[in-house]
Amino acid sequence: MKKKLAIIGAGIAGLTLANLLKKNSEHEFILYEKQESLSLEEGYGIQLSTNSTKILNTIGFNKINREKIFHPKGVDFYNIKNEKICNLDLTQFNTTENKYTSLQRSTLIEFLKDDVYNQHLRFGKKISEVSELKGKILIKFDDNTNDLVDIVVGADGIFSNTRSFFEKKKNTPKFKKAIAIRRILKSKSDLEIDDENISLMMGNNCHMVIYPVNKNRELNLIYIVREKKYDPKNIQSLIDKVVIQNSKLEKFFKGDLRTWPLYYTPKILPSTNSKVFYIGDAFNGFLPTLAQGAGQSIESANELFNLLKVNKSDIQNFYFQERSKRAKIVRKRSNLNFFIFHFSNNILQTIRNFFMKFLIKRKGFINSYLGNVYKN
Ligand SMILES: Cc1cc2nc3c(=O)[nH]c(=O)nc-3n(C[C@H](O)[C@H](O)[C@H](O)COP(=O)(O)OP(=O)(O)OC[C@H]3O[C@@H](n4cnc5c(N)ncnc54)[C@H](O)[C@@H]3O)c2cc1C
Repeated sequence: MKKKLAIIGAGIAGLTLANLLKKNSEHEFILYEKQESLSLEEGYGIQLSTNSTKILNTIGFNKINREKIFHPKGVDFYNIKNEKICNLDLTQFNTTENKYTSLQRSTLIEFLKDDVYNQHLRFGKKISEVSELKGKILIKFDDNTNDLVDIVVGADGIFSNTRSFFEKKKNTPKFKKAIAIRRILKSKSDLEIDDENISLMMGNNCHMVIYPVNKNRELNLIYIVREKKYDPKNIQSLIDKVVIQNSKLEKFFKGDLRTWPLYYTPKILPSTNSKVFYIGDAFNGFLPTLAQGAGQSIESANELFNLLKVNKSDIQNFYFQERSKRAKIVRKRSNLNFFIFHFSNNILQTIRNFFMKFLIKRKGFINSYLGNVYKN
């Protein structure tokens, strides 16, 4: 049966769901975004593993301009002194159609917005009130407009405002006591890395990831460091923490730097309203240490879309079972990676490096640790 949906938030999750609905269903939908426009500044890079490129290809991602994306072949692990530890072959998860891909977030948003921008996107919309009316949900926005819909999809990020209208139980995101700094590099300069791969350098209480985001080999640099408080005015002391471990890195932290405090969602909670669903970070926010935030946003949109297609009665229950199972797997691995990337003790680092070298060659281990996530 044809349904009417309100999707709240035009990030990766909301836009993916909108594209799936537009291309493959009869459901009516409007995307409500609180900002006045989509943020298309370069932003940070995004890695998409095959679980998400497979879904994006169903909505035409395979036709995207090849110059604007990159397919890294592997992950090279280094210590913070730039000494190589081991390499993970990412092509083992690729198929001819679906490949591990890196790109600018803005490139992905540009692609996702194209087919829905004119007819389905409304800007400057923030919910002010919700109520139930004749088996539907009436949403009022703070600009005095409203919409009566069958389904509301909260896709408004980790601090989801939609949740606060429908859920009594709070699931307030927690600060991980870590901060991310990012920059786009024009070249790898004198770093001893392969700029066709993802390079991951592990230091004391910090790690850095560098990867190409397009065919010009522009590189996205993300530096993540443990820090108890977030003070955007005090970036230098965070940079000093890595420069003291390798002075060669200092030059990479000049120019246009962006910082983020890292948050995660402590619990995975179901929706208490059968007509309200949460996707992307609004369902669960992960640490970025498995590079799965965007991937899971895309997956969650696809799971909900598939359930809406078959027209089952109790889709809320099915959705939560499936999504929470996936989220738990990803959460466990993201948290473990965060922990092991940041060892500050020399002995622990040596043991970690030894096990990484050993395990990375074991097909069985890699298949269960990453294959489970990438080959969904
Ligand atoms: C440093 C860093 C690096 C990352 N690297 C990667 C990576 O390599 N790979 C990866 O897969 N993921 C990565 N991620 C995570 C990924 O970017 C996010 O998980 C993903 O973008 C979440 O998408 P979303 O659509 O759920 O939420 P968001 O991107 O947060 O979008 C939410 C949208 O809703 C809008 N909104 C908010 N409130 C309201 C409201 N009240 N009403 C209406 N609209 C509202 C917002 O303006 C926004 O447009 C990284 C994250 C960080 C911080």
